[in-house]
Amino acid sequence: MCGIVGAVAERNITAILLEGLKRLEYRGYDSAGVALFSNAGVLERRRRSGKVSELEQALAGEPLLGRLGIAHTRWATHGAPCERNAHPHFSADELAVVHNGIIENHEILRERLKGLGYVFSSDTDTEVIVHLLHHKLKDTPDLAVALKAAVKELHGAYGLAVISAKQPDRLLAARSGSPLVIGLGLGENFLASDQLALRQVTDRFMYLEEGDIAEIRRESVQ
Ligand code: GLU
Repeated sequence: MCGIVGAVAERNITAILLEGLKRLEYRGYDSAGVALFSNAGVLERRRRSGKVSELEQALAGEPLLGRLGIAHTRWATHGAPCERNAHPHFSADELAVVHNGIIENHEILRERLKGLGYVFSSDTDTEVIVHLLHHKLKDTPDLAVALKAAVKELHGAYGLAVISAKQPDRLLAARSGSPLVIGLGLGENFLASDQLALRQVTDRFMYLEEGDIAEIRRESVQ
């Protein structure tokens, strides 16, 4: 179980996400990644095995800019600690998810989702979450409603954060068994596994309770 950082703001958030990951390094991890809704209007990511400094170097070589994003340090439970298994995981280049915890029924969900035509690109339990959410979005256009329906089918422990290229004004989070805290800013809001990651940007926090789903926008948290 490692770390999650997320942000929705009006300024570029890449440095905030990276600094947040560094502040979560004490939790231990084997790889790190970041996904941003870029200024070009698409989801883009960089992932690296090893330290956050490797990710930082990758971003220095190939910068990513954006005002909505999620980042992750991984402690592999399902699938080797390599770049392909590092989070964020995508579905259809439209959704990105980061997850801390374990999805116990991932095998059953994976088979069902494969039957529905989803192609898996990692060995993680996490990837079922993002394809399941993509599938649920066929019944509702609302990301929060779809996330609520998706998490009902997950057995296990999760703290997770989601962004969508189709609804780029919000960051979604769900908690069951892994801690998550929202950091409240002025015209910008944040999410992390531990408030330590966010003290660089705010000193106002709101903890998610077990079973909570949060919709975090620049000006509001629901
Ligand atoms: N179970 C997930 C994986 O192996 C998440 C691990 C974590 O909490 O970092 O990718």
